[in-house]
Amino acid sequence: MTTRVGILGGGQLARMTIGAAIALGVDVAIFEREADSPAGRLTRQEVVGPWESPDVQRRFAALCDVITLESEFVDPAILTAFAELGVPVRPGAATLAIVGDKLRQKEHLAAAGAVPLPPFRAVATPEDVLRAGAEWGWPVVLKARRLSYDGYGNATVRAPGEVAAAWARLGAPGRALYAEAFVPFRRELAVMVARSAGGAVAVYPVVETVQAADAHICRAVRAPAAVDPAVAERAAAIARRAVDAVGAVGVVGVELFETADGALLYNELAPRPHNSGHYTIEGCATSQFENHLRAVLDLPLGSTALVAPAAVMVNLLGQTDGPAVPHGLADALAVPGAHVHLYGKRRARPGRKMGHVTALGPDLAAAEATASRAAGAIRL
Ligand code: ADP
Repeated sequence: MTTRVGILGGGQLARMTIGAAIALGVDVAIFEREADSPAGRLTRQEVVGPWESPDVQRRFAALCDVITLESEFVDPAILTAFAELGVPVRPGAATLAIVGDKLRQKEHLAAAGAVPLPPFRAVATPEDVLRAGAEWGWPVVLKARRLSYDGYGNATVRAPGEVAAAWARLGAPGRALYAEAFVPFRRELAVMVARSAGGAVAVYPVVETVQAADAHICRAVRAPAAVDPAVAERAAAIARRAVDAVGAVGVVGVELFETADGALLYNELAPRPHNSGHYTIEGCATSQFENHLRAVLDLPLGSTALVAPAAVMVNLLGQTDGPAVPHGLADALAVPGAHVHLYGKRRARPGRKMGHVTALGPDLAAAEATASRAAGAIRL
């Protein structure tokens, strides 16, 4: 009988997981709040409705042998409901309860002594932020505890006079925030880790993520990161410990900072396929999406080795507000060696992730030149 994997969410991560499911002979069911999602349009097993509704949950559960997700911001109670209906959920409610609140995630990892962390703390008032800045020095990074992604929930506060504006922009006091010391990093690194239901672990090469200036959003990913081998080894070990400490199953994206003296500090993890792992589709022996499926189905994990000396992914970020029409696609496809991915989103928004381009090469510079040339040809 065909194996059936259900995914909570129908965005680009679910859509690319369907790509891997096709090769494995796995059927994918999508549970989305809204119709016409990028992944929902690719399967007949689509359930549209509120995730909280027991009736709709039952309908979806009937389509699935195992359920996974594409966002860490799912109410753990929803995952518990599926488990009670007899369908395993991977990653499970316990992991989501830890990682969905980024302050709780850090407190958990700090208590476990699993990873090196910058100073951080909960803040309930602007005065708390001022106190943190006085203690740690400025800038301070103010962060939303939940539902933050692509920098939408972050603000770098450079001086005491900027606290009030950042506080208001992030939606406090209605939205719970925490503060973190600013890390003067040299590079941002990421590690994808696959951990199967049976406990097998496979670690992908350490990559460098390049953020758009001041926008807190990933622009490009360079694999492998041009770091000292000892730094790469430590980064992989930290990522592995973090994934173990939260008990995640599936692939997990772990983000780290590398400081000028080669020290590593943990930023955050997301227990799902991750933007910093999209390069693995063409760049590694087994893509993060295939290994995610293998992990949640408890199948043997595939090799995470690079298949070329270097792979670079460049994100296609929305430039306008309106219907998503990829202008310049033909020019991008004419670039030899560029692998263009579009996510099938109906609407573009400035900064929204609309697709990406990956190129392999003999070195990072060559791969980045190819990927950037193709990405630069597309306007969305
Ligand atoms: P999100 O979950 O919205 O992606 P992150 O916590 O990953 O938020 O932060 C997004 C980006 O903001 C990071 O990639 C980094 O560039 C910057 N950033 C976050 N925390 C810090 C920090 N403590 N010091 C310096 N820069 C930071």
